[in-house]
Amino acid sequence: MSQTIETCENDEPPSCLNEILEAEEEPPGLKAVLPNHPLAAAASSILPFPLHRRKKEQKNVLTREFRKKFYPGISAREWNDWHWQVANRVRTADRLQAMLSLSSEEKQALGQTGIKLPFSVTPYYLSLVPADDPGHPMRRAVVPTIHELTRGPGEADDPLGEEFQSPVHGLVHRYPDRVLFLVHDFCSTYCRYCTRSRVVGHGSLNANQARLEQAIQYISATPTIRDVLLSGGDPLLLSDNKLEWLLARLRLIPHVEIIRIGTKIPAVLPQRVTPKLTRMLRRYHPLWMSLHFMHPDECTPETHRACDMLADAGIPLGSQTVLLNGINDDVATMKKLLHGLMKMRVRPYYLYQCDPITGSSHFRTPVARGLEILQGLRGHTSGYAVPTYVIDAPGGGGKIPLMPEAVTGREGDDLLLRNYEQRCFRYPDVN
Ligand code: SF4
Repeated sequence: MSQTIETCENDEPPSCLNEILEAEEEPPGLKAVLPNHPLAAAASSILPFPLHRRKKEQKNVLTREFRKKFYPGISAREWNDWHWQVANRVRTADRLQAMLSLSSEEKQALGQTGIKLPFSVTPYYLSLVPADDPGHPMRRAVVPTIHELTRGPGEADDPLGEEFQSPVHGLVHRYPDRVLFLVHDFCSTYCRYCTRSRVVGHGSLNANQARLEQAIQYISATPTIRDVLLSGGDPLLLSDNKLEWLLARLRLIPHVEIIRIGTKIPAVLPQRVTPKLTRMLRRYHPLWMSLHFMHPDECTPETHRACDMLADAGIPLGSQTVLLNGINDDVATMKKLLHGLMKMRVRPYYLYQCDPITGSSHFRTPVARGLEILQGLRGHTSGYAVPTYVIDAPGGGGKIPLMPEAVTGREGDDLLLRNYEQRCFRYPDVN
């Protein structure tokens, strides 16, 4: 007797699979599996699981107090409107001084007219910055000091040589199969250690149609490009319509397999992640996101909610963190950040050695410290929580991963290895 086997023609799942999925029952839930648990008694249809749902209910008291104090007439609704946050960015020394007691190093930097990177912080992010501690990590990351006005040895405005690898203005083609597409140069909050401080906030990279079209044409005409990373500036500061236009154009290019968005929005402007945005984004899968975080205090309930919405839209989330002197360059702080990211369903992806941009010496750490941190993570926390530590090679050599030495030598056929506890082991290698 012959057997009929249903095949997956045209990438459609066999119809029997749909039937199986439809027939599948919902899991029974807490009430059924733990009937005597105190939470089960209170449970109706939605239980306070999983962890991210519980976290979502938490209120950010710090932010609420800040809003009441400095924006007394502003309702929670206005505060949570990302347009309001962008329109009310704090950009002047006078406005900042009304909220924080400025140190003389901050005052001097803010008083400079030729400061390389503009100053701008969202009210939301400023609400997380302590008013009377100029050394606080969050504050150092966004408020300029006179140290950024000094060019240290080996520093450059474009240390990665991006300008020499740009076939089109705002499009960096360094690796054969992927491009970095700088969609514009605008960020809601400027990080003082930004690798692209030569570009961002200067108004030279606009999201105008003609420039974007030029970049799209280049991608279209280069079949080796299978991965497009949208960055900037922050791509999520484009309007929903403009961003959708861009994603749709890229999706029409047959050889573009994945699109990635590099953004710091969940940390500095989580209000931007709206149901409308995530509904739009999920139409353009496979879409990935690299989220920029630098300190555990950035993992607030608002940020948690934004990451939840992105993850629920099916977007794989990875993090990028720059190793910064006195901000996150110790094992305890880094571990706290990485665990915070994991709880928000963000997979730690890259830990960057700070690029030698002009005025960055006060942020940069010895590479040995980065390796010590990796040593303190590997084996001491979940493997998923350990990012890859990289140096982006000056001059455009690309990312080079750095690892604490695990292979210590060889004796005959045996490979000598050192584990996370610094104990030595032999592995019988094959030739
Ligand atoms: S968000 Fe990114 S592009 Fe914008 S200032 Fe920070 S590091 Fe630079």
